[in-house]
Amino acid sequence: MMIATLILAAFVLRMGAVLDAPQTHLDLKGIDRSVDPGDDFFAYANGTWMRRTEIPPDRSSYGVFSILDEQVEERTADLIREARRSKSLDSESAKVGACYDAYMDEASIEAKGLGPLKAELAAIAAIANRSDLARVLGRSLRADVDPLNNTEFHTDRPFGLWAGPDFANPDRYVAYLLQGGLGMPDRDNYRSTASKDVELQGKYRSHIAAVLKLAHVANPEAKAARIYSLERKIADAHVSRTDSVDVLKANNPWRLSDFPSRAAGFDWMTYFEAAGLESQPMIMVWHPSGVVGTAALARSESLSLWKDYLRFHAIDRASALLPRAFAAERFKFYGTALTGAQKPRDRWKRAVEATNAALGDTVGKLYVRRYFPPEAKAAAQEMVRNIVTAFGRRIDKLDWMSPDTRDKAKSKVKSLYVGLGYPERWRDYSGLSILPGDALGNVQRSELFDYRASLAKLGKAVDRAEWAITPQTVNALNLPLQNALNFPAAILNPPFFAAADDAVENYGAIGAVIGHEISHSFDDQGSQFDQQGRLSNWWTPEDFAHFRTAADRLVAQYDAYEPLPGLHVNGKLTLSENIADVAGIAASFDAYRSAYGDKSAPGPSAFTGDQRFFLAFAQVWRAKRRPEALRSLLMTNGHAPEEFRADTVRNIDAWYEAFGVHPGRKLYLAPDDRVRVW
Ligand SMILES: [Zn+2]
Repeated sequence: MMIATLILAAFVLRMGAVLDAPQTHLDLKGIDRSVDPGDDFFAYANGTWMRRTEIPPDRSSYGVFSILDEQVEERTADLIREARRSKSLDSESAKVGACYDAYMDEASIEAKGLGPLKAELAAIAAIANRSDLARVLGRSLRADVDPLNNTEFHTDRPFGLWAGPDFANPDRYVAYLLQGGLGMPDRDNYRSTASKDVELQGKYRSHIAAVLKLAHVANPEAKAARIYSLERKIADAHVSRTDSVDVLKANNPWRLSDFPSRAAGFDWMTYFEAAGLESQPMIMVWHPSGVVGTAALARSESLSLWKDYLRFHAIDRASALLPRAFAAERFKFYGTALTGAQKPRDRWKRAVEATNAALGDTVGKLYVRRYFPPEAKAAAQEMVRNIVTAFGRRIDKLDWMSPDTRDKAKSKVKSLYVGLGYPERWRDYSGLSILPGDALGNVQRSELFDYRASLAKLGKAVDRAEWAITPQTVNALNLPLQNALNFPAAILNPPFFAAADDAVENYGAIGAVIGHEISHSFDDQGSQFDQQGRLSNWWTPEDFAHFRTAADRLVAQYDAYEPLPGLHVNGKLTLSENIADVAGIAASFDAYRSAYGDKSAPGPSAFTGDQRFFLAFAQVWRAKRRPEALRSLLMTNGHAPEEFRADTVRNIDAWYEAFGVHPGRKLYLAPDDRVRVW
């Protein structure tokens, strides 16, 4: 039902408004009218859909985002296959086709065996002293993390690099160094003593042994135990996921000459030279204890252990593109054990993913040309303008805020850069060589190409209009150091957005997403960046104290949610996202009301305008998740599970009136207990 609606809507959007009356994108049959909206708004909006929907075996979760993902993936796959067939094959389209084909070419992958890893494994085998170790680690550094825009903190390499605007001077790019080196997603996966986590630790040790065995490494079991214990020590040095999002703890500019004394044990000069970072005046150390701890382990642990560890990770990282037995072992752990998925995603879907990862902007250009007409962009632009205005008006009405802080907040809103659909300038991939029949080589060259592009940015002027997400990604971003927002074309699709259809639903769905991203500039993290994106305290102490109090109440509200027995939402870890949800829906609601002036706002369903607004909001958060994936989300993700994001409505006064929610209902909050951050 849902899929059919989506396909019809996409057709309408593409062809222009061929139908006269606006359509609804609410899934009316998915509502569960036996639930009182005041007891469980998520279940009211989605209960029937939840009961009728099964998570596909290749997925760890399923909901609006994944449904839209799959739709975009199908479109993208067609575009890639068309690009390959096109007679006027330009070199960019040819690359896209070659990248996809190489991924699909399982026979070549099987025939090559570990061949594509030969050079990397030989370099590891040749490590004879600590300087060699530093050199090999330096050469393997990649730009595979992004702590602020995409909140990607994980890399299985010992360190990760992000080229981002400088905290102190966001006009130029500097290098940020992050902790890494763990195969499992987070330090808590290693440290937790909960039985499920202990079970996972055992499965990871078996996985290490299985990979070594497949690669014919001698004594795989004993080596796996030692590799695991090294990772456990690295995990103990790691900064927690909750502290990782605290930018004040990440603001550690170290001169290169500081490293040998501040993080002793490691041959930093050799490392930086091998990584191409030797001429940087300073490096921002995001995770001091992780960097210090790993540097010390580089000295205290034996070279032979480090070599085993590096060998394992080189193979494990590549295993999706190694012969079938390696790929199957990879899925057994990272798919089934970690997320509960029962079978790998279809190969063509993974090939699309890999092509997006290597040539994201080229594929994006094709996507936008076909699926993002100028009318859609114009309609979305108007919504953004209205919501930005509404956000500004809310700031005007904050009675607790001093005029000085208020002026600064308003000028921050005014100077936001909003990217809609796609970037103004596309990336140039002419320096990247994509070869037929070399899937793993393509990934390796692409990662190196991206790393060199990051190095080339260091010290240069920041382009505030640069995007950190591709147009064909179903998501949206706030880029705090650029004071910028990115709304990719792929999320500007039903049920989030349909230019020709019910605008009230658009406000409840994409409008709340737009409000969410604007609000990130004013959440507990974003509020520490000023209008230029500089990390600076522009608040009066009284104003900031007031803000913290509201934030603490939101932490408590989310800490109380218990999605699995004994396992609660981490209110602190998810605070930024929860503030953005509360403030985002409030701003979008104001914008919708001032566009309509009337809460009844007749539309294509029997619901009033206010009801449609809140239902559209709650329905885009519909999702089912396997317990394994839910545990992992609760431990490592900055977002609360979708169910509680939908229930954000309990902080909005108009929701109570729209659904007649009175004291005694489970979600009821007394007016004074509703959190109003912005
Ligand atoms: Zn967010």
